[in-house]
Amino acid sequence: MDCIFCKIAAGEIPSDILYQDEGVVAFRDINPQAPTHVLIIPKKHIAALTDLSEAGMSVVGEMARVANQLARAEGIAERGYRVVINCGQQGGQLVPHLHMHLLGGRQLSETLG
Ligand code: 5GP
Ligand code: ZN
Repeated sequence: MDCIFCKIAAGEIPSDILYQDEGVVAFRDINPQAPTHVLIIPKKHIAALTDLSEAGMSVVGEMARVANQLARAEGIAERGYRVVINCGQQGGQLVPHLHMHLLGGRQLSETLG
């Protein structure tokens, strides 16, 4: 499949990987919007949040666990951070492989778009 995040998860495209386990991979965003900007993805190709099945829903919990762990590792847990999942065109999702953004290290905007 021609999916950039599947290729990153498979190690076929280089990225700055911070964490991986059997189900989840986390790597730095190539175009960071904040001092810490990490993407957390399921290894399995799921196009968007809306495509998650009841059975597959638990991967979002795994992604949130990794976000919290990396926020501590990045030193932003105390000051606070934001996690975002864009879904679909009007949600601003550009890469059609489910991902969670972890953003922090500066005061983030009070508006969400
Ligand atoms: P979206 O708009 O789909 O929620 O976010 C996609 C994110 O993926 C963007 O923040 C973009 O900078 C990031 N991105 C796109 N292509 C690559 C890539 O090849 N490597 C990395 N590390 N990040 C990417
Ligand atoms: Zn994919």
